[in-house]
Amino acid sequence: MNPTPKLLPLVSLAIVLFWLPPAEAAMVKASMSAARALQLLLEGNQRFITGHMEHPNESPDRRREVSKGQHPFAAVLSCSDSRVPPEVIFDRGLGDLFVVRVAGNVATDLTIESLDYSVKHLGVRVVFILGHTQCGAVTAAVKGHTEEGDVGPMLKELQPVVAESKGQAGDPVENAIRDNVLYVMNKVAISPEFQPMIKSGELKIMGGIYNLETGKIEMM
Ligand SMILES: [Zn+2]
Repeated sequence: MNPTPKLLPLVSLAIVLFWLPPAEAAMVKASMSAARALQLLLEGNQRFITGHMEHPNESPDRRREVSKGQHPFAAVLSCSDSRVPPEVIFDRGLGDLFVVRVAGNVATDLTIESLDYSVKHLGVRVVFILGHTQCGAVTAAVKGHTEEGDVGPMLKELQPVVAESKGQAGDPVENAIRDNVLYVMNKVAISPEFQPMIKSGELKIMGGIYNLETGKIEMM
């Protein structure tokens, strides 16, 4: 049955409110301080390195708890590489981390928008940019950066970093991996979405490189 003409304005209003873009809603309070969140991440990585994982928050009770809503304490932008799953290497469970994964952990409009959602709507106050050793995406960008022609959006995103790190002493891929994390940290930090919160100290952008062999994250 169709709504009566009298109800139509109300129905329209409800539809408009429902479809308001997230940016229009008020920012939720922090789920945890940035300092505490970073501490939890590093402690979890330490447990992972030594093989003393606690596998927190993986129980059926936790599953039921987070089904009512999520309040992750950190966001992670990491590579899609199958050897770098953030929940595993930080030894965390359900509802703990808001994870955005894309090959080369690049900051595009889409990845920044996803991170922005976690900050403004889920209370995240630490955004962690996680690169890793032997990154295939960065390697491809380093090897292909002089070739013209058909370059996809991911490699295009990595090109400025590759150009910047060219000519530096040391391994070109390792240099580009490191420079990419720094570049992405900066790109996220100066984005209009995050800049005011970074300036006020409310939000921290952290970065590190995960070592595939040792499991250790070297902080930038
Ligand atoms: Zn990678």
